[in-house]
This record gives sequence, structure tokens and C-alpha cells, in this order.
Amino acid sequence: MNRISPCATPQMSAPLTKPILRERGQHEVFCGLTGIVWMHRKIQDAFFLVVGSRTCAHLIQSAAGVMIFSEPRFGTAIIDERDLAGLADMNEELDRVVDRLLVRRPDIKMLFLVGSCPSEVIKLDLSKAAERLSKRFMPDVRILHYSGSGIETTFTQGEDACLAALVPEMPNAPSESGSDLLVVGALADVVEDQFRRLFSDLGISNVGFLPARRAGDLPAIGPNTKFLLAQPFLAATAKALEDRGAVHIPAPFPLGAEGTTLWLKAAADLWSVDEKLFRDITAKGRDRAAIAVDRHRQQLAGKRLFFFPDSQLEPPLARFLSRELGAELIEIGTPFLHQAHLAEELSMLPDGVCLSEGQDVERQLDRCADANPDLVICGLGLANPLEAAGVLTKWSIELVFTPIQGFEQAGDLAELFARPFIRRDRLEV
Ligand code: SF4
Repeated sequence: MNRISPCATPQMSAPLTKPILRERGQHEVFCGLTGIVWMHRKIQDAFFLVVGSRTCAHLIQSAAGVMIFSEPRFGTAIIDERDLAGLADMNEELDRVVDRLLVRRPDIKMLFLVGSCPSEVIKLDLSKAAERLSKRFMPDVRILHYSGSGIETTFTQGEDACLAALVPEMPNAPSESGSDLLVVGALADVVEDQFRRLFSDLGISNVGFLPARRAGDLPAIGPNTKFLLAQPFLAATAKALEDRGAVHIPAPFPLGAEGTTLWLKAAADLWSVDEKLFRDITAKGRDRAAIAVDRHRQQLAGKRLFFFPDSQLEPPLARFLSRELGAELIEIGTPFLHQAHLAEELSMLPDGVCLSEGQDVERQLDRCADANPDLVICGLGLANPLEAAGVLTKWSIELVFTPIQGFEQAGDLAELFARPFIRRDRLEV
């Protein structure tokens, strides 16, 4: 097989100045159902009903674990094989499942019907099902739908599809209201509280978060809404917000001391926050973050890293590891590269770095073997065989399950990458 050397055949795309290697071959990623694991924790009165197969039920059960002491807020309506003539039964069956669930669980205020990729489910029109069920259960329960299908998607797109489904439900902001800030992307509650305090100290009030913690607290939106993305994988949500008149604030993502400062600064500049006030409010957090990150510099400086495409968090993580920890970047693979949302991140990456979008897994594994990196950041499917071959890995899925945004989490983020080296050193002693 011919081997492509990194970025040997780039397609240049304006306005980026960095070459991108684009591949469309076999790819190894989890499906969008995985997002339910963190989304059901974030929206505390929502239920996620996967309409899928036994495989979907196993995936979600093993990814989220079994809750013994509390009522779970996710489940699977298993649709068995049947032909088109069985569609009417399938709709009736789904209605019966939803009926039983909502009668038994009055705590549920929002129900997501989550589509999957088995052909039986694709035949089912979940938008019609959500409409039909909404007529019966509104205003007590809002019923929405989105797809978590694994066909041509990656696991963080489940959150994107879920948030995009919420946008039409957001109330209209009165047109005479001043500029409101909306932070978009699921963040751990503790991180959300830290950002809310920082914005308030900067004099930026009226800050909304999407998703809200409770179904009834969706923030209002209007032409005066400006939004900051907290995650780099929210293309569909951003588009839906823009369609409602909101305006995206370009910024790097709030990872590490530098990323968090620049993310806050992008909003501060738009709100004309005084430079000195900004420095005074952010200095302590930034210094704490820099000190916490620096503790892991010795482990990571000069280490050669290879990112396989998985979460779409790869470019901001690579920027953080390179600029704040001195790591060397061999290849930054990402499933999709949203040029507008990532423009600030890409401009901060070192010149000559290899960026790849999409995947042809065999070729990428060949490039990785040739490069012989110190650490590979990849999905679970590749991590096990790579570890068995003696390659040190970091599971990228851990980065979505762990609070990593903001000043106070910067040290934990650095530690996640230092840990495989620490573990190896201990095993070698
Ligand atoms: S949605 Fe598709 S990829 Fe995901 S678990 Fe179900 S069958 Fe598998």
C-alpha cells in the first residue's frame, strides 16, 4: 500500500493558511448516542429515550453504567426487525412506551426521542412522533427529537444535535433588551458557576447557558444575543442560533490559562470592558492555572503527540499542549474541521504542523507507526490494540466526561495527558 506522508497532498482552503490533509476512508468513532451520558446529567429533568436496537441499548448501558440508587433518565425502546407494513404498530408501540414512562415519572419535564441507525428506526418518522406526542403531553412535558445515529457522525455530534433541537424552543428575547451573552455547550455545573461569576465581575450580566440545567429555564434569544461557543463541535447548533439572529463571537476555546483568558477577552472586548478591570479580574485565575499547568510541564515538554480524529476537541487540545506545555505536535487529526469556529485556534498552532480531517484509518495508523510518537490520543477502539503494541495512549472520550474548561480545571487537563507517562514510569520501576 502507498503511504502518504503527513500533509504530502494538501488541499488549501481559504482563509486558512495551514494545509489540511483530507481523508474519506474507513473511520473508527463512537456514535452520537454516547452524548446522552453527559447530557442526561446536565439537563436534570430530561429523559433520553433511544429508539433503537439491542446494540444501542448495550452501548448506552455500558457507557453510562447502571444507576442502582436512582431512577435512570435514559432508556431504550427496542425496535425489532419488521417490514414497512409494521410501521403503524411501531408508532403505537412507541406511544405506549412513552405513555407508561410519563405516567410513572412525573419528574420528567422534557423527553428526547433519540433516533439511531438501524434500518427499522430510519423508517420511523421521529419528528412526526414527537409532534403527535407533544399534542398529548404539552405543556407538562416538552417532547423533542434528534438523531444519535452512528452513520457518518462522531460521538460529540450527539450533543450538537441535541442542542440544535433545543434552539427552536428558546423563547424570544424582547427586541428592546440590551446585548445578552449566551454560552453554548454543556459544561459541568461547577465550571458554569465559575464562568458566571467571572462574567458578572467583568460587568457582563444577563448571561445565559445552553443547555440550561432545567427544561423550563431555556435562555431567551434574539437579534441582540451574542454567543460564545464553549465546545468546538457545535456547528449545527451555531447555525440554528444564527438563523434566529444571534451572532457568534469568534474566540479560541476555554482550555488552559491562555485559551480561557482569550475566550473571556473576546466577550469583554465586545462589551467594552476596561482593560485594567479585565486584567484585575482574570489575573488570579490565570496565574493559578499557569502554576497548576506548569507542574506537568516536565512530563510533557518535548513529548511527540499524535491525535487520531475522535471528538473534534483535537485542535484546541493540541494548541494547549503545544503552547502551555511545550509538547511537539506530529499530526492533529479531527473528524470535522469547522474553519470559522476554529480560525483562532488554527492561527495559534505552530507552522508546519500536520492537520488532517476525516480518516482513512489504515493509512493513518501507518503514518503513526512511521512517526513513532510518545503519546497517541485516540478513541477506545484504537487505544487497546495500540497499547498492546506498546504505544502509550490517552482515550479522547475521557476529555468529554471530565470538567476541563476554565482556569480552575487547567491543571486537571494537563494531568490527564501526564498520567499515561506517570503510569508507565511506575510500571517500569
Ligand atoms: S446508533 Fe448505530 S452505531 Fe450507535 S449503537 Fe445504535 S446501531 Fe450502533
